[in-house]
Amino acid sequence: METRDVVVVGGGLVGSAVAYGLARQGLKVALLDEGDQVFRASRGNFGLVWVQSKGEGKHDYARWSLQSAHLWPGLAEMLMQDAGVDVQLQQRGGLHICLSEKELVDRQARLATIQQGVGDDYTFQVLDLQQAREFIPGLGPDVAGATYTPMDGHANPLKLLRALNASCQVRGVSIVRGAAVTDIRREGGCFRIRTAAGDWQSDRVVLAAGLANRKLGAMVGMDVQVGPNRGQVLITERTRPVLDYPTNYIRQTDEGTIQIGDSQEDVGYDDNVTVPVLAAVAARAVRCIPALGQLRLVRTWAALRVLSPDKFPIYQESEAMPGAYVVTGHSGVTLAAQHAITLSPWLAGGERPAAIDGFRADRFPPSSEIKTMGADDAH
Ligand SMILES: Cc1cc2nc3c(=O)[nH]c(=O)nc-3n(C[C@H](O)[C@H](O)[C@H](O)COP(=O)(O)OP(=O)(O)OC[C@H]3O[C@@H](n4cnc5c(N)ncnc54)[C@H](O)[C@@H]3O)c2cc1C
Repeated sequence: METRDVVVVGGGLVGSAVAYGLARQGLKVALLDEGDQVFRASRGNFGLVWVQSKGEGKHDYARWSLQSAHLWPGLAEMLMQDAGVDVQLQQRGGLHICLSEKELVDRQARLATIQQGVGDDYTFQVLDLQQAREFIPGLGPDVAGATYTPMDGHANPLKLLRALNASCQVRGVSIVRGAAVTDIRREGGCFRIRTAAGDWQSDRVVLAAGLANRKLGAMVGMDVQVGPNRGQVLITERTRPVLDYPTNYIRQTDEGTIQIGDSQEDVGYDDNVTVPVLAAVAARAVRCIPALGQLRLVRTWAALRVLSPDKFPIYQESEAMPGAYVVTGHSGVTLAAQHAITLSPWLAGGERPAAIDGFRADRFPPSSEIKTMGADDAH
């Protein structure tokens, strides 16, 4: 049996960021990951480091996202120093495109409410079509306007995952693939973690296995209410640089492709693409930027978001088994900096940061009392 200070379960963006942060604290860490046969949001996301629409109804979340955007350049620098991987972070700001006056007016009101709750750090501008075209000249006549914030940006999410994994290795983290965790129990003051690739022992265990956290949480006495939400994404052929700013559903990647997305569908654990949804996503993009209609599509995919009932993250230490934690939720790209930098002292045994007070697992009624989405099928 191998022994480490901390075992992190799940090698997606969340687990990799957490493992990296813990290794930077000087702890001996193992990162156990099941593999390609399970759902992996980190391989299918849109790559936005996004703040402007975050935190409606929960200003703590807007602040948490904004702080993460501020911490992101430091994370990118750390990853470059440790692993030599450029994650292609760009934070020039981003636009949310509106296709009707009503959408623009509603959006302004929503962002103003978030701003009131967060304070002057949260800045945005409302742009009419002419002003929006100063940012993106190719916007079509159907566009009513856009909201812009300087806080937004994007990165290459696959390079981020690679950089986190490589940096973990540089910092001595044991990364084990094909290690599906099947049982966790506390015995003799430490955790024993059974996997398909051998058993592990540790003082602490962090569950960061995305949709599987519901099942794994029950092993350490936690009711982790996460469920799937499907997003479908399209990729065009590479083209010359045409988009200097990311938008909420169109961005140009560092490789030159245009990424178009993404749908939001409650379809359980179905991660197939469907032509009607892809067609609707593509049509909306062409209304926004008509020249996109000239590009060939080269790839499509669907992936499942990891969502709690209120869509905000869950950060919790188990009361039944202290030393076991769960770190999970949506926006694993945006929040990668918080997960790697801010959470690690807490996960290493320090004080719970006040900033995450609102993200406890027990803010929801127990799942035994509510109708769920058949989440036991997460595997
Ligand atoms: C379409 C789409 C677009 C998105 N766009 C954005 C965006 O623009 N910006 C943003 O910030 N976020 C975005 N997200 C969200 C982001 O991708 C997720 O928040 C993030 O990837 C979640 O990472 P994770 O590590 O929690 O989960 P996952 O990536 O799902 O990883 C879970 C890992 O756990 C492992 N695992 C599962 N069960 C076990 C087990 N029993 N034992 C061991 N390992 C196990 C799996 O092998 C897997 O590697 C998007 C998501 C989707 C689906």
